[in-house]
Amino acid sequence: MQNDIQEVLITEEELQQKIKELGRTLSEEYAGRTPLVICVLKGAFIFMADLVKAITVPVEMDFMAVSSYGASTKSSGVVKIIKDLDVSVEGRDILIVEDIIDSGLTLSYLIELLRNRNAATISVVTLFDKPSGRTVNLEASYTGFVLPDEFVVGYGLDYAERYRNLPYVGVLKPEIYSN
Ligand code: 5GP
Ligand code: MG
Ligand code: MG
Repeated sequence: MQNDIQEVLITEEELQQKIKELGRTLSEEYAGRTPLVICVLKGAFIFMADLVKAITVPVEMDFMAVSSYGASTKSSGVVKIIKDLDVSVEGRDILIVEDIIDSGLTLSYLIELLRNRNAATISVVTLFDKPSGRTVNLEASYTGFVLPDEFVVGYGLDYAERYRNLPYVGVLKPEIYSN
């Protein structure tokens, strides 16, 4: 698996340090409240696990699975709910945990959905942002790292369901895509 990586963009140590910072910021932001933290599966599951451990206020958690890419590396714009939330968001402070925002299509769909379900507040924390890929006008409330317009894998992010378990983030060798 390591042999398929052309370049490491963000090391395990850099990721962990940034997530601790985000945890501190969010703990201050949500002081006195109990947010419902929503993990957008699958890509955000490792970030979610490390992030909630760095948050010191009580949180509740739920998980949602959406698909917008199919097998491609670009967003189709069609978002499908694979797994919906188990709990109601009505009147809740919602923190959406995303792995990466590229076009923004997935997230804008999700925000609209949660608004229609009458969430009290909706904030977004994303570990990675690729602003140059944006096709809708949207920004996360909290961002870990800004990335160039390259397809990355690792730390939850996959290519064809593989590489999610890498503890760092990197770029695949071009020949991996042509196999
Ligand atoms: P968007 O709808 O913003 O274009 O795409 C968001 C989703 O696409 C992310 O949650 C992620 O699943 C996937 N995605 C976007 N960019 C990348 C990337 O560079 N690498 C991987 N593995 N997935 C990506
Ligand atoms: Mg995602
Ligand atoms: Mg994927």
